[in-house]
Amino acid sequence: MIQLSKVSKVFALEAGAFTALKDTDLHIGRGEFIAIMGPSGSGKSTMLQLLGGLDLPSAGQVSVDGVALNKLNEKERTLFRRTKVGFVFQNYQLLPMMTVAENVALPLAANRAPKEEIKDTVNRLLREVGLEDKASRFPSQLSGGQQQRVAIARALAMKPRLILADEPTGNLDRKTGEGVLQLLTRLNREEQITIVMVTHDEDAAKAASRIIQIRDGEVVQSTEGVLA
Ligand code: ADP
Ligand code: MG
Repeated sequence: MIQLSKVSKVFALEAGAFTALKDTDLHIGRGEFIAIMGPSGSGKSTMLQLLGGLDLPSAGQVSVDGVALNKLNEKERTLFRRTKVGFVFQNYQLLPMMTVAENVALPLAANRAPKEEIKDTVNRLLREVGLEDKASRFPSQLSGGQQQRVAIARALAMKPRLILADEPTGNLDRKTGEGVLQLLTRLNREEQITIVMVTHDEDAAKAASRIIQIRDGEVVQSTEGVLA
């Protein structure tokens, strides 16, 4: 599903260049549930951004589902991001002025899906994450765990085969976080969606089938998770 070959990411700063990811090789198979762990500033989010085509590497190649992302032009990369990957962030990134249903509908509307299809899909997705009764609420009227479920429903809208989640339980208490992890685990097992999740929570990482450790922009260890 994912192949990184000699991938580096260098940020140009006033003080000089900073290498956030160094010469990284990594293979992630279809259907894996990966936890990326490592200290703050080690390059976890940078790696996720490269996997999702949100940013391009300074050197090396990122391939996702057989597509070499650096060969895409700007327009193709945007389309890839919108249709092939579901993103989930620590702070949910829901639009506050839109209802739950409208937030989940966004990717479909952006892709100009027919109205009836949008309605059916949104209903199905909200049922899938257990929030069918919250469709007309606004994000601020929901708990953190519920908002993250909305974000996951939105991430599923385009039927991605890959979900990239950056600290999805980082703002949640343990019990609520466990619910979100169970949802991701179910999507991985029942719908064979490949999941790459950044977390610094050891317990959250237990949901994963493989744990990849990053230090200072380098993959230092890759171990089978407890469920593998
Ligand atoms: P993590 O997610 O592991 O905490 P990040 O991938 O966000 O770490 O960042 C890795 C390093 O790269 C950090 O030192 C961070 O300051 C730096 N970095 C990340 N994004 C940028 C950017 N857009 N410009 C400059 N430096 C950045
Ligand atoms: Mg980060």
